[in-house]
Amino acid sequence: MKRISKRYKTSEKLSPSYYHKQKISRWEFEEYGPGKNEIIFCPKGDAVYYHKSWHHAFENYKHAKETKEARFALCPFHQMENSCVWEGEVRINGLKKEKIAEVLSLAKNFSHRAYLKDPMHRIIKIRQDKNSLSIFTSENQLSERLAKKIHETFKNLFSKPILHRAKGGDPFLVIIETKKI
Ligand SMILES: [Zn+2]
Repeated sequence: MKRISKRYKTSEKLSPSYYHKQKISRWEFEEYGPGKNEIIFCPKGDAVYYHKSWHHAFENYKHAKETKEARFALCPFHQMENSCVWEGEVRINGLKKEKIAEVLSLAKNFSHRAYLKDPMHRIIKIRQDKNSLSIFTSENQLSERLAKKIHETFKNLFSKPILHRAKGGDPFLVIIETKKI
């Protein structure tokens, strides 16, 4: 925890209130995470931990004959989801109502492809306020890539995304403004 609060203080671009909301991050879970030789099954999804990282089930598992300790524990994604924390946020300001469904569908497809590559890279939650739409992701670079994709797809609608980040690297807040026509 000490390391994290230190990081937060070094932030220049994100407001203190943002950090207050985002108390802990993905790597905190990983820091106190599993041992190298363990097999862990996440009870909330298909994620299995082996070979030092999380996978979709037992795809590509090569040491099935070895005896290893196995246990059940929430994967970092589901721990984050349970604790309502995230590592990346794409915030779209001024988005017109009629465009919300289209943008969300793009975001979900994009993050699904990321999830297929890595089961820990996902959308954690989506929040819709009066004037903004926020997409929270479990991984900071996913939010950056997602914001780029949204901008590329709807160039006429949005100005270039602006990335705010802590000096240490996470979390990211990427803001996209809707162009005023
Ligand atoms: Zn899980």
